[in-house]
Amino acid sequence: MPAHYDLIIRNGACVLPWGTVETDIGVRNGHIHTVGTASDDTAEKTIDATGLHVLPGLIDPHVHLRDPGDKAIETIPTGTKAAILGGLTAVFDMPNTSPSITDAEKLAWKRGYVESVAWCDMGLYVGGTKTNIPALKDLELTDGVCAVKIFAGSSTGDLMIEDDEHLEKAMRSGRRRIAFHSEDEYRLQERKPQFKSGDPYSHHMVWRDEECAFLGTRRLMALARKTGRPAHILHVSTAQEFEYLKDYRDLATCEVLVNHLTQVAPDCYERLEGFGVMNPPIRGEEHRAAAWKAIAEGAVDTIGSDHAPHPRDKKLLPWPECPAGLTGVQTLVPIMLDHVNAGRLTLARMVDLMCAGPARVYNVIGKGRISTGYDADFTLVDMKRQRRIEESWIVSPCGWTPFAGMEITGWPVATIIRGNIVMRDDEVLGEPAGKLVKFAQ
Ligand SMILES: [Zn+2]
Repeated sequence: MPAHYDLIIRNGACVLPWGTVETDIGVRNGHIHTVGTASDDTAEKTIDATGLHVLPGLIDPHVHLRDPGDKAIETIPTGTKAAILGGLTAVFDMPNTSPSITDAEKLAWKRGYVESVAWCDMGLYVGGTKTNIPALKDLELTDGVCAVKIFAGSSTGDLMIEDDEHLEKAMRSGRRRIAFHSEDEYRLQERKPQFKSGDPYSHHMVWRDEECAFLGTRRLMALARKTGRPAHILHVSTAQEFEYLKDYRDLATCEVLVNHLTQVAPDCYERLEGFGVMNPPIRGEEHRAAAWKAIAEGAVDTIGSDHAPHPRDKKLLPWPECPAGLTGVQTLVPIMLDHVNAGRLTLARMVDLMCAGPARVYNVIGKGRISTGYDADFTLVDMKRQRRIEESWIVSPCGWTPFAGMEITGWPVATIIRGNIVMRDDEVLGEPAGKLVKFAQ
């Protein structure tokens, strides 16, 4: 007797944890029910994925959707719409909003808000500050929280814990993996007077130099070793850190940003000026090469976009008045697929970095692989599709991308979240139905 499903995805090249297999996937009640359905099985909806790759739903574990904040820049509704158009099924959102998400009340508000307006599933970071350290151990156990985020060096917003004493206290408050922005604040402040307004944009990477990032990471690793607290070093950007972190794989996981794999100095500053300014900065070729080597060696756990929009007119300001941060949630998947097509990593490694990696680092329940019982989250991609990234495609209200004009081979053509087709061929379908991601504690 043929089985009946809510959805069957037929004839796709499915990227399973054990290899790529051409098979059919049956979905029931938002979960993957069967891998390898029979040809006479039926479904309410069938997708013919002939010629396409079926990936587990891709996750961007590092976005700043700026909500609450300035709606003219980005919001959760617009940022999550950008995510599904770009082939992502879940994003993890940073807490340095206005106001920042640093207590139970604001977190409760955000949890409710997300489940009424988000187009994709979301994990939420809680910000660590010098004043909320005792509460972090409870905040990190709240449903939907992917991690505590600590800025050890200043970036956008007022969240920061820069000194070892408070950092150690924060590491001793709670037990889940903490996500760190690692740049040494003291070195940043000490060197700031060497620069002046109107200096070349490339001075961003001279000010926030390799030693700023490396010193920050050395200090964090010493404290992680002392306290035994696991750490996730976000956006590792220097060859020195990749080498150093090899000795801390028992404690530390790490993220690389698509920008640091794709853009390079001095080109990015000459061509993009303020639209190439982000933290940590885009650096020279040796660091980009080191990031790719770290990916090839298995030393990188996750890839993020660090989508961090700012208004166009502010990005046009001279350095250092122009704020640091670039848009990227909508372009992450196309650019990574282009890297796959260029032979820089395999599609399996990309799936490891964007599905299994986030699931492992943040202890996600029920996502990150195509297996029976898991959420029916899929990104369908056409590895042959050629397309140019156009600014007109970007739905974030700020309206710009540093990757405009880039010719891409490989494009996401459908996004499916818990069995619902939410994007197909550039069209957003249905209503916002995003939910909070579940994390094991
Ligand atoms: Zn960030």
